[in-house]
Amino acid sequence: MLASLQGLWATFTNGLKKPVTAQYPKQHLPVNKRYMGFPVLMWDAPVGEPYCTGCMVCVRNCPTGCMSAQMVDNPLFKEGKSKRRKIIENFEINYGRCILCGICVEVCNFDAIEMSHQHELSVVARNGNRANLPRLLEMGKAYQAEVDWKPKSAEEGAKQEATA
Ligand code: SF4
Ligand code: SF4
Repeated sequence: MLASLQGLWATFTNGLKKPVTAQYPKQHLPVNKRYMGFPVLMWDAPVGEPYCTGCMVCVRNCPTGCMSAQMVDNPLFKEGKSKRRKIIENFEINYGRCILCGICVEVCNFDAIEMSHQHELSVVARNGNRANLPRLLEMGKAYQAEVDWKPKSAEEGAKQEATA
C-alpha cells in the first residue's frame, strides 16, 4: 500500500515538472557555440568577394572526396581592389557524404571555410544535398552574422601587435 502511494506521489510530482525534452521538429534547441555543423564558405564583405581562392587544398585533403572546386583569375585583383590573384568560380560540397571531420577548415590557409552550426539538412534523394557556391556562401554569410565571425589571420595579427 505504502509503495503504491509512493509510486503515485512520484508520478504526480514528476508530472508537474517542466519537460526537459524538445518537441522536435516543432522545437529546436540552440547548439553550443563550438558545435561543428556542415562546412560553409566565408564572404569577405569589405572587398565584396569570397575568401576562397579555389586553391584545392581542402579538396585534396577531404577524406571522403565530397568537395570540388575550380578557380579563375580574379577580375578585382586586376582592378586593384583585391589582393587575391585567383578566386573561386565553382565550389561544391556533397553534404550527403561529408562526415563533419573539419579537415577542410584545418588545412585552409585563407580563412575561407568554417564549420557552421548548420545540421538540419536531411533530404530523401541519395545525392540530393549537393551545395553549390551560391548556397555555400549564403549559409556562410548567415553563420558569420550569427557568431560575429572574424578571420583567424586578423585575430592572430591583433595578438601579435598586442605582444610586440
Ligand atoms: S576553402 Fe580554402 S583550402 Fe579550400 S579551395 Fe578555398 S581557399 Fe583553398
Ligand atoms: S568536414 Fe571533412 S568530410 Fe566534410 S567537406 Fe570537410 S574535409 Fe570533407
